[in-house]
Amino acid sequence: MRKSKLRMKNIAGGFCAVLFFISMAASGQNGMKLNDSVVFRNIMNETMLNGEAYDWLHDLCKDVGHRLSGSPQADMAVLWAQAEMQKAGFDKVWLQEVTVPHWVRGQKEYGEIVGVGQVDILALGGSIATPENGITANVIEVTSFDELKKIGKENVKGKIVFFNHVFPQNVINSFEGYGDAGPFRWYGPDSASAYGAIASITRSVSSVHDDFPHTGSTGFRSGNPAIPCVAISTIDADVLHNALQKNPATKFKMILNCKKLDDVKSYNVIGEITGTEFPNEIIVVGGHLDSWDVGEGAHDDGAGCVQSMEVVRTLKALNMKPKRTIRCVLFMNEENGVKGGHGYADWAKTTNEKHIAALESDAGGFSPRAFSVDGDFLKNKNIASLKQLLFPYGIYEIREGHGGTDIGPLEEFGTMLFGVAPDSQRYMDLHHTANDTFDKVNKRELHLSAATMAMLCWWLSEYGVE
Ligand SMILES: [Zn+2]
Repeated sequence: MRKSKLRMKNIAGGFCAVLFFISMAASGQNGMKLNDSVVFRNIMNETMLNGEAYDWLHDLCKDVGHRLSGSPQADMAVLWAQAEMQKAGFDKVWLQEVTVPHWVRGQKEYGEIVGVGQVDILALGGSIATPENGITANVIEVTSFDELKKIGKENVKGKIVFFNHVFPQNVINSFEGYGDAGPFRWYGPDSASAYGAIASITRSVSSVHDDFPHTGSTGFRSGNPAIPCVAISTIDADVLHNALQKNPATKFKMILNCKKLDDVKSYNVIGEITGTEFPNEIIVVGGHLDSWDVGEGAHDDGAGCVQSMEVVRTLKALNMKPKRTIRCVLFMNEENGVKGGHGYADWAKTTNEKHIAALESDAGGFSPRAFSVDGDFLKNKNIASLKQLLFPYGIYEIREGHGGTDIGPLEEFGTMLFGVAPDSQRYMDLHHTANDTFDKVNKRELHLSAATMAMLCWWLSEYGVE
């Protein structure tokens, strides 16, 4: 009895293996199971030949424009995205309310190296205004936080600290350069304030030498008063450096009109293709709908939004029926608060859904290169096959690394967090500048990357993350 049962099992096992190989060779849409590589090819064809991401990005950049949280354009972007998802035939589309900060730049900033001339500056998000007539003061130039410490409070008090840390050009991945130079924007103003400075200037966190200052958020720890703080373009940072070399008593003048208003109501925009077998198992794909208030937020992060929408559109157009739900989430307020990301995760706690994976595209709409992911996924039993499937489409690597800021709060659910890691060479030229406009995005690159995102989402919906 026992023996025959065992034998039955072996035969069944062998039979299943044969069926498995047949089903691997053949699949899905009309009863037959297509080989995964055929599915990937179909996805690529659909996105490259019929994709709407680029046209969507055009409309988002040109009809809506930049869209900082709390701005009328942010409201327009919400309605625009909702309408486009509905038009594209997503299974479900809804808005999720979140409360967001509302900081406004006010009139254009004025910056001047006294005795030299006017320079290009942008207030950092979170900066306070100067008095109406501006601030004019001596400048202390440093290239590190250690230098600031050495110079000490008595020499910094009442002056403007100038963080002139140069973006490292000898890194391959420009996000590493951002990690190196970024702290002078994130923490520089706060440190300057702690040493008694009355304002701060940060050399733009930029991989290019040009006249575009790069804004971005900054913050102040409690106890340190908020001070006016700006970014200066890389060319003008050099001009200021040279002026100080010639005359250490050189003064800088800035006029800022920015202010923080009361928080306002806004929304994440959500649309999905509902899973057929495990509808409560969710794969999020998203980007952030808000942008800085200069330029058009084309690469950051209009690209990630339209790519995420394209993932669902492509699967719908191919009449694919993913086993698990693939949910496009356009998060509000990544740039200066991450309220959308936290709001989504808080809501997710109240549902009976399981968020198995999330993929964020927030590194620009450039050619695909890699996906980054939590280390655990690299132990996945099917990873070799997934890598092989993606390789022909420009995903040369699945590596351990950051998923994304908006999906970060999902980590507490054990969600596997993936990040799109496209070619990074030009992103830090444009990031948070008036130069981040639609014309900087290449249609083929944008769509190619969107197609690889659809492939990964579909694969996760078929096989899960284990
Ligand atoms: Zn971004």
